[in-house]
Amino acid sequence: MRQSEDFVYWLDDALYLNITNRCSNNCYFCFKHYWSGIAGFKLKLSSEPSVEQIIEDLKKHIFRRRWRETVFCGFGEPTARLDCLLEVAKWINEHFPFLSIRLDTNGHAFLLNPKRDVIGELKDSGVRAVSVSINGHDEETYNKICRPVFTNAYRSAIEFVKSARDASLDVEITAVMIPEIDISRIQDLASRLKVKFRARDYIPCFY
Ligand code: SF4
Repeated sequence: MRQSEDFVYWLDDALYLNITNRCSNNCYFCFKHYWSGIAGFKLKLSSEPSVEQIIEDLKKHIFRRRWRETVFCGFGEPTARLDCLLEVAKWINEHFPFLSIRLDTNGHAFLLNPKRDVIGELKDSGVRAVSVSINGHDEETYNKICRPVFTNAYRSAIEFVKSARDASLDVEITAVMIPEIDISRIQDLASRLKVKFRARDYIPCFY
């Protein structure tokens, strides 16, 4: 029987890590406003798991099948717990070096972790890919949809994309297909920044 709150969960052949429910955005469409989890997993956390708890949970599930990748993505922004993210990623990389590690992020890591070399630390921990959600075709739309706590969140997310790209991480911009967003303009942005783009069906929170 699974525990009542899930730090580790899976969808198809990807293993996901739900390390926090904190987020510096408050997207109006966010799944956590409406549901306590997804696919039978409970992602609403009464408290944040420790690194040790996450690793114990990983040990239980990592041999369940041949996972395509591990992904930091849950009901919150993983870089709000950067040290936890880095430690767990290091553990995965050390014990399962052939398993790729991706970070799904709102791109606010520079604002959440000032004065740190976030990109360098992510790379050193073994994170190889980042999917950055830019849910707005310009700053005004972004602020209306995502309602960030930071005033310069949109610009900082774009800086995060550029820095990750320059550090040779595998970068993609994602955006959910909701009526307020002109997807083609975000696609153009990704093209100008020379990173990949992926439009996502409206499955809130999974950006
Ligand atoms: S959709 Fe993602 S970025 Fe937006 S509030 Fe939810 S967890 Fe944060």
